[in-house]
Amino acid sequence: MKRRTILKAGLGWSPLLPLGSLAAGQSAQKNTAQVLVIGAGIAGLAATRKLHDIGLDVIVLEARDRTGGRIHTYANWRGPAVDIGASWIHGAGLSNPVARLARKIGARTVTTDAEKAELYNGDSTMLSVRDEKKIDSIRKEISEVIAEQSRRGPDSSLRKLVYAETDYDTRPPLEQRIIDFTLNSNFEHEYSGSADQLSRLWFDDGSSYAGDEAIFLDGYQVITNALAAGLDIRLRHEVSAVHYGDKDGVTVETSQGVFNAGMAIVTLPLGVLKASNIRFTPTLPSQKQAAISQLGFGVLNKYCLLFPETFWNANLDWLNHLPRTGHAGEWAEWVSFARSTGKPILMGFNAAEFGSKIEAWSDEKAIQSAVSILSTMFGRPIPMPVDAVITRWKSDPYARGSYSFNAVGSTPGQRDDLARSIAGKVFFAGEATDKKYYQTVHGAYQSGLRAADEILKLNIPR
Ligand SMILES: Cc1cc2nc3c(=O)[nH]c(=O)nc-3n(C[C@H](O)[C@H](O)[C@H](O)COP(=O)(O)OP(=O)(O)OC[C@H]3O[C@@H](n4cnc5c(N)ncnc54)[C@H](O)[C@@H]3O)c2cc1C
Repeated sequence: MKRRTILKAGLGWSPLLPLGSLAAGQSAQKNTAQVLVIGAGIAGLAATRKLHDIGLDVIVLEARDRTGGRIHTYANWRGPAVDIGASWIHGAGLSNPVARLARKIGARTVTTDAEKAELYNGDSTMLSVRDEKKIDSIRKEISEVIAEQSRRGPDSSLRKLVYAETDYDTRPPLEQRIIDFTLNSNFEHEYSGSADQLSRLWFDDGSSYAGDEAIFLDGYQVITNALAAGLDIRLRHEVSAVHYGDKDGVTVETSQGVFNAGMAIVTLPLGVLKASNIRFTPTLPSQKQAAISQLGFGVLNKYCLLFPETFWNANLDWLNHLPRTGHAGEWAEWVSFARSTGKPILMGFNAAEFGSKIEAWSDEKAIQSAVSILSTMFGRPIPMPVDAVITRWKSDPYARGSYSFNAVGSTPGQRDDLARSIAGKVFFAGEATDKKYYQTVHGAYQSGLRAADEILKLNIPR
């Protein structure tokens, strides 16, 4: 904090700091600031960067021992750095602010191509040309059902809509497998919610940026590290309560003491808010509580396998897998980093129900299952990976899932309820608060800037 601001606060010019809250010489371990930001994910970092650079005194309180939150580059294994949270800048054209940021800091990115894909059969046989035509026609049928029917009628689940409109129950087993595969790979993997929970009315409400799908050669952390440089971030500070009833400001209880500020920005993941482990006093407004309970928070997990060499077609980026009957939703998508990075890495994905269930498995069991599926896909034994890293985002107490989705019974407007500030001193950011770009890094980033702007509109002395 600048001395000028301390004086102003002490003289009572600013309602933002509790009086006498900051003693001279206390700066190293001070526990007061003008603004407290809860969470050092991209939303919290974006907000803090903006407020700090304008001259406000901001402390970030982060439960983990690292910054980045759901952006997590894993660099501890024997292989190259790999992103086990977000990987892609979705739509990396220059209107995407994260793409602009990447360019500004000189981040090394490469693109992956969804067209460089192959579909493997899950029962060890090759898909015939006839089967492939069937797959194309069923995918088209589902797209048409969604385009024509999804915005009509009362809300129900995406699965209910698609099953009813495609006469699922009367279709032969291969066609049922293709319908289930499409629901899983096209929708559950993208939106993270189960097709039983995705709202037929709103599951795809939102916007996207134009451009390629870009990944970071040195990991997504280059973005969060750049944003975090020079900020006052207190790691291992788990927030347990936020009190905002007093007229003086906000008091935040953490595992390492109590912090005070004129205002706070809460960037906790929706999954953490849903778990209700953090006490807000007064309790949050009823509309915000309804948004927290009705919007969905799903699961997408990653299984990154480093192999001794590339034994698959290195020109492909996506290796898709049509699970056999009775195994819908299991190991349907793999991305290869062989072409884009030159490394013999395959990353499998599991989302929604199976993605949650498999979190209870040991690492060994999950890796064995992955290897067995890959052997089936290629129709031959494959080498064992030399190293592997797998995620359990739902069991992670500081995420409790991967990202938000529009669940049956929720409405897109509830994201505005989630974002709305309270009493001019508690502000909300995070991917789930962005009605247009929820689920994404760029949505989270923009939500942080939006919360910072809300504070700046209050003309705080600085
Ligand atoms: C597996 C996976 C893949 C993804 N892939 C992509 C992708 O390719 N592209 C894309 O754009 N998006 C992707 N996403 C989504 C993207 O990662 C998120 O939307 C974004 O990172 C969310 O940022 P945030 O700041 O809103 O939340 P977070 O990053 O979750 O930040 C919130 C912070 O709050 C902290 N916190 C939690 N509880 C407490 C507490 N009690 N006290 C203090 N701090 C606390 C957390 O530790 C965390 O650091 C993916 C996510 C996952 C999990």
